[in-house]
Amino acid sequence: MEFKSINPYNGQVIGIYKEQTSAEVDLKIEKAQKAFQSWRKVPVAERARLIAKAGAVLRDNVEEYAKMITQEMGKPISESRGEVNKCAWVCDYYAENAADFLADEVIKTEAQKSFVRHDPMGSILAIMPWNFPFWQVFRFAAPSLTAGNVALLKHAPNVFGCAEQIAGVFQKVGFPEGVFQNLIIHHTKIEDVIAHDTVKAVTLTGSEGAGKSVAQTAGKYLKKAVLELGGSNGFIVLEDADMEKTIQTALTARMMNCGQSCIAAKRFIIVEGVFDEFVTKYVEAVGKLKAGDTMDDATQIGTLARRDLADQLQRQVQESIKAGAKLLLGGKQNECFHEPTILTNVTPGMPAFDEETFGPLAPMIKAKDEKHALALAEQSKFGLGTTVCTTNIEKALSFAADISDGAYFVNELVKSDPRLPFGGTKSSGYGRELAKNGMMEFVNVKTVYVK
Ligand code: NAP
Repeated sequence: MEFKSINPYNGQVIGIYKEQTSAEVDLKIEKAQKAFQSWRKVPVAERARLIAKAGAVLRDNVEEYAKMITQEMGKPISESRGEVNKCAWVCDYYAENAADFLADEVIKTEAQKSFVRHDPMGSILAIMPWNFPFWQVFRFAAPSLTAGNVALLKHAPNVFGCAEQIAGVFQKVGFPEGVFQNLIIHHTKIEDVIAHDTVKAVTLTGSEGAGKSVAQTAGKYLKKAVLELGGSNGFIVLEDADMEKTIQTALTARMMNCGQSCIAAKRFIIVEGVFDEFVTKYVEAVGKLKAGDTMDDATQIGTLARRDLADQLQRQVQESIKAGAKLLLGGKQNECFHEPTILTNVTPGMPAFDEETFGPLAPMIKAKDEKHALALAEQSKFGLGTTVCTTNIEKALSFAADISDGAYFVNELVKSDPRLPFGGTKSSGYGRELAKNGMMEFVNVKTVYVK
């Protein structure tokens, strides 16, 4: 079997990848285990030095990597550059902080000495999506490799070119062979990998369905799992919001990456008093976005990554309209391209409210008051994050406990930052990436006690 990566903008084939056989995968798993035996003994300072070098290589080759991202998954080239630079940032962050995070933690007890060590676990399987094909991998790999683990990456097949380049980064800077390897397999082969004795844990960034399946398999073999799944973030606009700034934030929150971001604002919940003003200004702002050639610096809206993703969004738009939503902007699809689309009169029960919409669709939802707005935001099976826009910070902070998501942002789009933990609740998964928390997910927190 072969995998093809195809440029969604022009249909050109970027690369063809032959599926690895079970025997080839077994060899990679063995190689990973062998690499782990020496990698775990490499001093943290040396592992940190290497991850810092990986960051430098990313910065030095932004154009090459950004081009591959754009060609394989269709985001505008300017955003791809931003993605590569963010990967360099996460490498810098763990290079600077790994020694602190991994240091022994002395805990006073009646023992002569008692402390906690942070030992690496071994081989970690990473199953990753195509939407941020570099970032999703680096935000896992930078902390996990620096902690002394080794990684097996099963990337999404439409971005196997990116997977190859990522492996090349680690190779270039001198990570020992076997510390980071790609598995060119279909997801139906995942169980065999998770089942393997030396594979200690699995991390998945992907859809809810994939999450359930991986969680089941991980449970069957009693392996640790971290799941970063879908989202349907509420973006709440209160009456006292600074409207100009809110519109700009709302624009990026939904339209970045052509709407294909787990933490994108997917439901705009606006209190009655400012509903018309927000909607009018938002339609105007979205209408000005420039769609076009994904390799053009000026392009702001690319294509969706695959035809089926554009079809799916179109279905959600049409079914929502049938259920009573009103089309204010866009609405049309042409192969992998979907126009930025705005729907109003959106209510619970419509796909635009109930389902995750993975593309440039902005549903406008009217709330009677603040309490209603919070309740609507909470009315989702997902729990990645919520944004509240208001000039009353104290009031915004008083709402924080009422939102059950993994993140709560005031006057800012929900975004990931190496310094802050990232992850969801409910159907958005469990576990955390980034910050110290992300590094701790794949270490053995070992108690040492000397009487
Ligand atoms: P997807 O279909 O779940 O694919 C993601 C990865 O999971 C791919 O490598 C895929 O491999 C694999 N996969 C799919 N089904 C699987 C299964 N049953 N068992 C094991 N692996 C499986 O997701 P997508 O549509 O490409 O990506 C979009 C989704 O990811 C959205 O829901 C988005 O919100 C979510 N996401 C979440 C985050 C986060 O941090 N929370 C970040 C980005 C994206 P195959 O392609 O071989 O099937």
